[in-house]
Amino acid sequence: MGTAAQRPCARCKRSMAMTRNVARGGRAHKSRGLCAGCYVVVLRHGELELYPRLRRNRDEVLHEFQHLREQGIRSHRDLASALRMTEGALYNMLRRARLAGDPRAPD
Ligand SMILES: [Zn+2]
Repeated sequence: MGTAAQRPCARCKRSMAMTRNVARGGRAHKSRGLCAGCYVVVLRHGELELYPRLRRNRDEVLHEFQHLREQGIRSHRDLASALRMTEGALYNMLRRARLAGDPRAPD
């Protein structure tokens, strides 16, 4: 153990585990880059929108993708970079969108 991916909480900056395998007394990621303790506090204060979701759904990504293409960005490398994802992840997302018949995913 001890190999689980760690990252600092977006709010308290303390290291937390990104998996459910948390050592006793350890800090675990809950959602939106927040540890479980901070998530509860943020939720209570109605400030969740200050902390974006780590994962966007395909619709959100395609919306941004389309917007970028309308601005003339065509290369997959540039698009992937602007979308803060790898080219591979972009290809996979577009392939799944095409399979689902989404008109925003170009050939
Ligand atoms: Zn925290």
